Amino acid sequence: MSGPSPRAQRVERVRAAMAASGVEALLLSLGADLPWLSGYEAMPLERLTMLVLPADGDGVLVVPELEAARVEPAPEVFELRPWAEGDDPVALVAGLVGGRRRLAVSDRTWSTFLLGLQEALPGRQWTVSSRMTGPLRAVKDAAEVDALAAVSAAADRVAAALLGGEIPLVGRSEREVSDELGRRLLAEGHDRVNFAIVGSGPNSASPHHQAGPRRIGPGEAVVCDFGGTMAGYCSDITRTVFTAAPPAELAGIYSILHDAQAAAVDAARVGAPCEDVDRAARERIAAAGYGAAFIHRTGHGIGLEEHEDPYIVAGNRTPLVAGHAFSVEPGIYLPGRFGARIEDIVVATGEGPRPLNTASHELTVVG
Ligand code: ZN
Ligand code: ZN
Ligand code: ZN
Repeated sequence: MSGPSPRAQRVERVRAAMAASGVEALLLSLGADLPWLSGYEAMPLERLTMLVLPADGDGVLVVPELEAARVEPAPEVFELRPWAEGDDPVALVAGLVGGRRRLAVSDRTWSTFLLGLQEALPGRQWTVSSRMTGPLRAVKDAAEVDALAAVSAAADRVAAALLGGEIPLVGRSEREVSDELGRRLLAEGHDRVNFAIVGSGPNSASPHHQAGPRRIGPGEAVVCDFGGTMAGYCSDITRTVFTAAPPAELAGIYSILHDAQAAAVDAARVGAPCEDVDRAARERIAAAGYGAAFIHRTGHGIGLEEHEDPYIVAGNRTPLVAGHAFSVEPGIYLPGRFGARIEDIVVATGEGPRPLNTASHELTVVG
């Protein structure tokens, strides 16, 4: 006997979350909520695509007629409502909402559509859909964990090439190395490259440095943080390599970072609040005197999006449950001089934290 499909189960869980929040209709356009629920991703275009999911009725996917054929396979859980050129899709959505007053709209809906809807639907209460979908999407089912493991393994193979010295660094620009990391992500099975940060020398101290024309020299730290999407799910890994054996001070900092990252992974146990994972890394870095140099949260959830719930940050008391997938990526940054970060994706399981990235963390010198 087969029960409800995974997508039908997701719809039921969303309906329960809507009921708990008193939301009468969910309006999903751009972003990952719609593909998570329906398998269909709206095109980021001036033509509106929007799922209207009432708490008390069947869902309707309002979609431009010329894109209706792309809704494949047909979402079993929704009716399709194609609209033709010349139709007013905002009015169509407003008609489907009807008299419902408490509405949730996907976080990434363009303001041009939201403002039009607010004009067409005066006097309503609006909230973001992530209030309901975020905690649900954060808990991955077995198929999603498999997808994350596969895409993480593909990113690991690129990291292994970096650590193994197969990707030349000295004398090349950050941009060239970034391009090569991207090409290798695609060669290892990614469908899309989302980012490939390469920060060398002083640029290593800027956590989100945009790879640029700077030529990588000998005796530098090079932070490489890259990821992409494969079969819908995202990878994200950081390794810091050195182009010559670093002086003792920097080797010591790397060792502190290595231990802090391992401690945070070890703290990522079912039942532990997210902020405890952050604290595990932060306490070790602070105890070594570098607390002020760790200027970002320890991690973010990952799935259909690179950054999603749960956030591994002070103040997030959400307890980890089996299926939570997130990055553990502490860093230490000395402005103008040096920076290092180590990042793995980890899944919380009943048997303990399961790192999906296994490329070496050891201090690595490459040319
Ligand atoms: Zn990253
Ligand atoms: Zn990350
Ligand atoms: Zn290690």
